[in-house]
Amino acid sequence: MALDDLPLRDDLRGQSPYGAPQLDVSVRLNTNENPYAPSSTVTSSIVARVSAAAAGLNRYPDRDASELREALARYVKDRTGGQVTAGQVWPANGSNEVLQQILQAFGGPGRRAIGFEPSYSMHRLISRGTGTEYLPLDRGDGFAMRVEDVRTAVDERHPDVVFLCTPNNPTGTTLPLDVVEAAYDATPGVVVVDEAYAEFSQSPSAVSLLPGRERLIVVRTLSKALELAGARIGYAVANEAVVDALQLVRLPYHLSSITQAVGMAALEHADELLQWVEVLKTQRDRIAETLEELGYEVYPSEANFVFFGGPADQTVLWQSLLDASVLIRDVGVPGHLRVTAGTPVETDAFIEAIRAITKETAA
Ligand code: PMP
Repeated sequence: MALDDLPLRDDLRGQSPYGAPQLDVSVRLNTNENPYAPSSTVTSSIVARVSAAAAGLNRYPDRDASELREALARYVKDRTGGQVTAGQVWPANGSNEVLQQILQAFGGPGRRAIGFEPSYSMHRLISRGTGTEYLPLDRGDGFAMRVEDVRTAVDERHPDVVFLCTPNNPTGTTLPLDVVEAAYDATPGVVVVDEAYAEFSQSPSAVSLLPGRERLIVVRTLSKALELAGARIGYAVANEAVVDALQLVRLPYHLSSITQAVGMAALEHADELLQWVEVLKTQRDRIAETLEELGYEVYPSEANFVFFGGPADQTVLWQSLLDASVLIRDVGVPGHLRVTAGTPVETDAFIEAIRAITKETAA
């Protein structure tokens, strides 16, 4: 039976699922993961917490994930300096699930979300999945969003949900806080600031804007700098009323006791998990310098990846790199590709491969 033969929703017909290729190659620099696995100290703590949680698996987990929210609030306070309470934090299975809950609560049929593209493709896909109209707007020259353009765009489109992303995936560029403020002031809807890569950035977090802004939601994750993509833990930081709203749409017991245990164990070792951030920033900067030297257009990145333009047909360069066992990401922006910072050895492999390919093409 084919998909088309099913009584599928009309708006899902002919659509494709999210699909970053998961290929078995030696150097995988395509999904912005942390190339460093949690250390044995961290995994031992995780095993101990999970073992204790396993003994209680006959019971449903803490529906409110209270202990994990306390730990997340402490972490955000330490990292951003903002005053954040556990009541202002809401975790779910990856920040993707947090984004979905936000759209279930504030989007939905008859409602509209806007995003400034290129940006994280799941903003559009989760909008579609929740029946929310999604309007893609342009980031403008150099992908730098100007305050005035954002204010006008938001004001004219009357969105219920505004997506901002800083550092932005895939461009790596950041947004000054006055862009967030302008978007907030221009809409009665909610403004979502996706800060999945915040730990790699020097720029201030939008968490500092939360006091007095009850429709602002900052979304973050343990999947990137904190090395836990496989555990699926993301969280929102917002006004307590927003957390109440998200609880109206979350599935009961959405976060398993195993997931909560992993998150708490990991946050006890946050400093240790974050030790690779500086190494990854150095690799990111090496990638950017090499690409510039080779004549590509490089966008200033404060994340753990670099976006670059230049290849006439990015699919050809992407394939040549794959043939050299280096997998990077074609996000569908013509003439552009994105590469994640890897370990020094992985980064060497990318640099060596792209140097050879670029020289060969120029010869
Ligand atoms: N936001 C952005 C900008 C991302 O790049 C990603 C992951 N690629 C996510 C959210 C989702 O991450 P997770 O669900 O693993 O927390």
